[in-house]
Amino acid sequence: MKNVDQEKNREQMLSNQIIRRGISDARVLDAMRSVPREEFVVAGDENEAYQDRPLPIGHNQTISQPYIVAYMTEQIRIQPDDVVLDIGTGSGYQAAILSRLAKQVYTIEYVPELAKRTAKLFEHLHYENITVIEGDGSGGYPERAPYDAILMAAAAPGIPEPLVEQLAPGGRLILPVGGSGSQILKLITKNTQGQVNTENLISVVFVPLRGGLGWQDEEWRSL
Ligand code: SAH
Repeated sequence: MKNVDQEKNREQMLSNQIIRRGISDARVLDAMRSVPREEFVVAGDENEAYQDRPLPIGHNQTISQPYIVAYMTEQIRIQPDDVVLDIGTGSGYQAAILSRLAKQVYTIEYVPELAKRTAKLFEHLHYENITVIEGDGSGGYPERAPYDAILMAAAAPGIPEPLVEQLAPGGRLILPVGGSGSQILKLITKNTQGQVNTENLISVVFVPLRGGLGWQDEEWRSL
């Protein structure tokens, strides 16, 4: 499919899936407009890239639905000077959107092949303010903390305490909490005095968080 067609598809995705459902932050919409989603799906799926659903990206993982990426990005209120941690790199699409809004994005991925593939893609697309880390992000990434914003794209059994600790004063954390079937998207904010507030947003469906503070295979299936 030609680039012009994909631009048209992207504009349609914005109006039909994103704006129509209430996302209105102009910076978020511009970021969604500037990232070529077709580059983040697996080869052969480019024609599906702008559909209103997640798509498989190999290793049993998915690229999140565009609306969910837009929703989480809007809720987390990224500022131009922010340092952001994105947990669950996957295709890299969410990290790419964040990188258009923030100063620096650290993104961590548990599946080494996905981390490598996505790091190469960022290089190819010249997204220079994204660092891909290979490893278990269930407890965040203390090496670069504190973060102004942390996003997790995998369902956690609870709110991992290290993530709250790694938030800067005024920082925001967004993540799905719950088991297979569906989860609650939670927004945790830390005020400048260090007090923490938790808000339940919407019901969502994500793949399970693995690793030390994630789900063990048997537990996830038995729910
Ligand atoms: N943000 C991604 C969504 C990918 S799905 C996108 O825009 O495409 C969730 C990803 O989280 C998967 O790639 C999965 O491998 C990864 N993941 C699961 N547990 C993890 C953990 N403990 N640390 C880092 N990544 C993890």
